[in-house]
Amino acid sequence: MRHDRGMTETHPAHCWLTDMDGVLVHEEHALPGAADFIAELTATGARFQVLTNNSIYTPRDLQARLSASGIELPEESIWTSALATADFLSTQSRTAPPMSSARPD
Ligand SMILES: [Mg+2]
Repeated sequence: MRHDRGMTETHPAHCWLTDMDGVLVHEEHALPGAADFIAELTATGARFQVLTNNSIYTPRDLQARLSASGIELPEESIWTSALATADFLSTQSRTAPPMSSARPD
């Protein structure tokens, strides 16, 4: 007999991931409930990460922007696409031969 657990079974979350723009903030304003949500995660010690595809600003810049909108979190909680790219490239440089070792045809 097949037992479908489906989407109705709930489990406690071990980690929360959330987008930043359009989810926590819109331009310079926190969306309703966003500051309380992050404050609750922080107060309960829940693991969370705020993700953004904004590659222009550093996590420190984005932390300041969030703080100005009323959302308080450590900059280590912010993961940008630039950080993801740097992380990916660092894994590639360990496995790929240096360009200088490439032989011409
Ligand atoms: Mg977004």
